[in-house]
Amino acid sequence: MNAAEIIITRRQTDDAWMAKGACRGLTHLFFPSSAERPQARERREAQARQVCASCTVQTTCREFARTHHEYGLWGGESEDERHEAGYRLIAPIGIRAAS
Ligand code: SF4
Repeated sequence: MNAAEIIITRRQTDDAWMAKGACRGLTHLFFPSSAERPQARERREAQARQVCASCTVQTTCREFARTHHEYGLWGGESEDERHEAGYRLIAPIGIRAAS
């Protein structure tokens, strides 16, 4: 197996769980719109958490987001919650001041 094949194989393996996500087609629930207000964020994230609660890949998703310093809500966990759990964002511009 050459280097390109290794990379392609690894990528396919690492991302295969994403195809099983219950959030497919619901991106608007998992990432904020520009200038989203706190109340709207709470409502949006509550809806997203309901989707995550029924998802079969939730644990894998949460670990992926923690490892890759993702933004948005992944595996039922917001970026604020990941940050507070010690999985720091690379550029934490979205972290609320109260945290
Ligand atoms: S746990 Fe939530 S964010 Fe992750 S794949 Fe499932 S529905 Fe999507």
